[in-house]
Order: sequence, then C-alpha cells, then structure tokens
Amino acid sequence: MASQLTFIGAGNMAGAIFAGLVDSGYPADAITATATHQQALERHRARYGINITTDNAAAVSEADVVVLAVKPQIMREVCEPLQEALQISRPLMISVAAGLTVDTLTRWLGDDSLAIIRCMPNTPAMVGEGAMGLYATAAVSEAQRELAGEILSAVGMVEWVEEEGLLNAVTAIAGSAPAYFFYMYEALEQAGVARGLPQESARRLALQTAFGAARMARESEFDPQTLKRQVMSPHGTTEEAIKSLENAGFEKMIDNATLACFKRAESLA
Ligand code: NAP
Repeated sequence: MASQLTFIGAGNMAGAIFAGLVDSGYPADAITATATHQQALERHRARYGINITTDNAAAVSEADVVVLAVKPQIMREVCEPLQEALQISRPLMISVAAGLTVDTLTRWLGDDSLAIIRCMPNTPAMVGEGAMGLYATAAVSEAQRELAGEILSAVGMVEWVEEEGLLNAVTAIAGSAPAYFFYMYEALEQAGVARGLPQESARRLALQTAFGAARMARESEFDPQTLKRQVMSPHGTTEEAIKSLENAGFEKMIDNATLACFKRAESLA
C-alpha cells in the first residue's frame, strides 16, 4: 500500500511535487494537501484527485510522510500546533523551506527524535527538472531515505549530502544557479543583438543552444572539459571565444559568485 503523504502548504513547490507524483502514477487518494484557502485546494482536488483539508493537525495525524511546504516566515506558527498530532503518527518530516535548519525545525516541532529531511530545491522543479540537495538526520531510516528520494524525484534529480552545511554548497551551485544560467542567456541575447541579429532571433538561438548543450551533456559520457574541447577546433572561432573568457577570468568570476552565495546562505541559516 502506498505511503500516506501530507503536504502542509499547497503552493508552487508543493503543487509541483504532488502534480509530478500523480502524473507518474502515485495514487492520488494517498496524498493530502492543506492550505488556508479552500478555493485553491478545491482546484487541486478537481485537477489531481488528491484529498484536501484546511486542518493541518488532522492531515498530519494520519501521515507516513509530511512535506512542510509553507513560506519560512510562517513555518513556526504552522509547526508548533502540529506537535501533538505528530506524536500519534510520528511521520517522516521533509522540509523544502529555504534556510531553516534541522535544529530550528526540531525546536518548533517539539521532538528531537523525529526523522527529518531537509531538501534544497530549485525553481526548475516547477517543470519537473529540479536539482535538489537532500540532508537526512540520524533518525531517518534507509527505507525513509528511499521513500523521500522517490517522492522528490517526481520533480527532478536528487543528490544526498552527508553534512547539513553542504546544503549551502547545493544552494550555491544549484538552488540559486538557474539565475546564473538565465544571466548567461540574457548576455548571449544581447551579444547577438550587438552583432546585428534581431532580438527575438538572438533570444531563440541562445535558448535553444542552452537547451541543446544541457541535453548533449546529459546524454554524453564525457566530462564538461572534454565537451568544451570537442567544440574547439585549433585556431577556430570557439577557441577564440573561450580564450577571451579565460583571459577575462570567467572561472574566477563563477567561483566568487558561488562563494558569495554560499556565505549568504550560511549567514541566513
Ligand atoms: P507559495 O506558493 O506561497 O505556497 C505557500 C502555501 O502555503 C500556499 O498553498 C498557502 O496556502 C499555504 N499556507 C499558508 N499558510 C498556511 C497554513 N497556516 N497552513 C497550511 N498551509 C498554509 O510558496 P512556495 O513558493 O511553494 O514555497 C514553499 C516553500 O518552498 C518555502 O518554504 C520556500 O522556501 C520553498 N522553496 C520554494 C522554491 C520555489 O521555487 N518556489 C524554491 C526553493 C524552496 P494559502 O494561500 O491558502 O494560505
């Protein structure tokens, strides 16, 4: 029988996960979502066939897994009233909230023996192409790890880290990184326009190139360095461009940017 999943919060992130689960065949009647507005919940019920309620504690008391998917700033007021219900079901807790540590969540949930997984997702999860870091506390069993991996794989790929602090590194190269790629997309579009292409045309070419390069890298057996070298014939056009990027300190710029992101994530934790 499928594990009972409860989503506390039914917004963008929770919605992407339960939509992905239902689409991939997870039984909708084993999924419950909660929110404060009945209307939004009704839309999810109509579309996905999941159970809905505005009663968080009732939804938690029957769950095998609880996904905490409300905004970090209201997490405390959502978690504290769940304490009693959690003692009935003792579910696996998965938090997708940015920046809230296991210590903080444990304090608000009122039980330091609960199994907790922290997930650091990124926005491409909304289209089923997320890249997520997961960290599990010692109380999480192997079976629970597997289950969490299955649930979150509904919206992308998952990578486990063995220290909570490494989630900040995940933030630096995945959580925040879609914006770096969008920046590159924007810069390529502008460069195309500067070289004389119509803007729409430059945008389409830049986007398809990003997509094609990502797909090629994913489907290939080669590392990034080799993939890069394969496009660079000696004294050719690509070599000129790459040399120019190297001379401008491209790698150092990425290193600096990700370090700044990492430090900011640490300071928020
Ligand atoms: P969102 O779209 O604003 O959704 C928040 C949900 O929480 C809404 O369904 C809201 O429903 C519900 N909610 C509010 N108060 C509640 C309560 N007392 N009880 C139950 N549900 C309640 O937010 P989101 O973007 O999905 O973000 C959710 C979490 O994901 C955040 O912690 C965020 O850090 C994390 N995250 C999101 C992204 C992203 O790309 N979106 C990326 C990484 C991490 P009502 O409006 O009906 O109250």
